[in-house]
Amino acid sequence: MAGEPQADCLFCKIVAGEVPATIVRETETAVAFRDINPQAPTHVLVIPKVHFPDAASLAAGAPEVAADILRVAGEVAEKEDVTGSGYRIVFNTGAGAGQTVFHAHAHLLGGRGFNWPPG
Ligand code: IMP
Repeated sequence: MAGEPQADCLFCKIVAGEVPATIVRETETAVAFRDINPQAPTHVLVIPKVHFPDAASLAAGAPEVAADILRVAGEVAEKEDVTGSGYRIVFNTGAGAGQTVFHAHAHLLGGRGFNWPPG
């Protein structure tokens, strides 16, 4: 069923506490933890506790949780003190765009300058 935990999903395992993560914030619906391979001084992943493969399916299936992801990302940005210099929220969607974990997640990146267009 949509949203149910998937046995072979790394991020479902992090939600369940079966895989360790450096958690910086947790709410009823979301978990935020540090990326294992950071691409910026602040690189935090914000994920829904429910399983959807990408941001669009999360927004369609659980729009209130999708909104929570953005809210939590903003709260983490405040806590990490990157709002003044600016930060980026990225949802890679599809392998061609660089998505490697097919459990919806926002990358919160901050603490350095960013180029546009992105690579
Ligand atoms: P994607 O490439 O947009 O799907 O992002 C997946 C992210 O998950 C990558 O930035 C990885 O570095 C990160 N990642 C993979 N495994 C772990 C882990 O066990 N803990 C924290 N981050 C992870």
